[in-house]
Amino acid sequence: METQAWQVLDRAHYLHPFTDHAGLRQTGSRVATRGEGVYVWDTDGKRIIDGLSGLGCVNIGYGRKELVNAAAEQMLELSFCQSFFKTTHRAAVTLAEKLASMLPEGLNHVFFQSSGSEANETAMRTIRRYWDLAGQPQRRVVIARELAYHGSTHMAASLSGIPPMYTAGGDIPLPGIVHIKTPYQYRHGPEMNADEFGIVAAGWLEEKILEVGADKVAAFFAEPAQSAGGAICPPMTYWPEIQRICKKYDVLLVADEVVCGFGRTGQWFGADHYGITPDLMQLGKGITSGYLPLSACAMSDRVADMLIEKGGEWAHGFTYSGHPACCAVALENIRILEEERIVETAAAELVPYFRSKLETFVDHPLIGDVRSVGLMGGLEIVQNKKTRESFPYEAKIGEACSTEALKRGLAFRANGDTMSLMPPLVITRPEIDTMFGIAREALDATAVKYD
Ligand code: PLP
Repeated sequence: METQAWQVLDRAHYLHPFTDHAGLRQTGSRVATRGEGVYVWDTDGKRIIDGLSGLGCVNIGYGRKELVNAAAEQMLELSFCQSFFKTTHRAAVTLAEKLASMLPEGLNHVFFQSSGSEANETAMRTIRRYWDLAGQPQRRVVIARELAYHGSTHMAASLSGIPPMYTAGGDIPLPGIVHIKTPYQYRHGPEMNADEFGIVAAGWLEEKILEVGADKVAAFFAEPAQSAGGAICPPMTYWPEIQRICKKYDVLLVADEVVCGFGRTGQWFGADHYGITPDLMQLGKGITSGYLPLSACAMSDRVADMLIEKGGEWAHGFTYSGHPACCAVALENIRILEEERIVETAAAELVPYFRSKLETFVDHPLIGDVRSVGLMGGLEIVQNKKTRESFPYEAKIGEACSTEALKRGLAFRANGDTMSLMPPLVITRPEIDTMFGIAREALDATAVKYD
């Protein structure tokens, strides 16, 4: 009864993000009640293993009282503080300094917002302003990638390259953004070896720069590994070649690390994993492990110095830029990650295990491709393994499989036909076994239905 009562109110009043509400009216929502470690419970008392870390954010798991205390203490001491008018506060300054000490070399300046989408807005405004101030206002074009997801504000949606964003209308994409193919080897270069493919895929950037005109390109904007696009993890040769091309044409390199940051790839940042030094880097989600909303746009000395020395006042900012409680929670989250060596332990003890479990799916009749980096894994469902043919879009097989998994107590994300698994970094090996055990049962049940 309790579940139904909540579902009735949910249907009547609550519009959900990225949801087919007509479909939701038929099924009703799952009503979550609490979380602990890697588990979430619902109003029916069902325990669900969270194979998607909330939404790629709950890196240290649910229920850490230290984060609650950090927020409460900060709220009691100073619940709000704007940073617009020559005012600052200790939590934001400490966090900015902490991030500068952790990020790749040169990223010494940080701007705060609340969401990943806003961090990407800040990055876009920064890029355009940088080139205006640098006396090259014709550098307007930003190159992004197919299957990217950068958020839901107008600009972030325009940068994104997942098909639903383009069919949604609303004048998306905005002008000045073009897309190139992504390093999706299963679809774009299965006949090549990985290293060779990485170089070829990076070459698509150079081709686009030359097509647009090198003096018109402002930046290349990309996730180190693409999460919502379906766990697309580039070969190790890809990013260093991208960096070389960006340097050659003086194109700014912008890394959206909203998902990759804070340990997802097995290193603290995707840039560390792939060996690059971006000019701008956006962080979100895992910065607070999702306990409070916060994002950061980090900038290199080169970029920040231009804004500071030539820019004057910059008309950009948000009421909640550097919100004290969010910054305090981020600091506590980072302290826990560091002191408990969560990223290092995950890399040494969990990542190889996770990968070996993922690889057991190679033989499953529905799985065409298995890919992963760190604790971000993808299992791509196909209709025909030999030809790599996908199921028709209307079959919604990814969604069907995720429904089967949820029935059995596993939440994962269906990115199109790819089952994306990205559990909290504190998951244990037995919990990894449980997660993959349910994933297999769900796939088997889906295979029977679609036979
Ligand atoms: N960038 C990436 C890589 C993301 O995956 C997301 C969200 O999933 C965003 C940006 C947008 O973040 P938010 O939903 O906090 O606006």
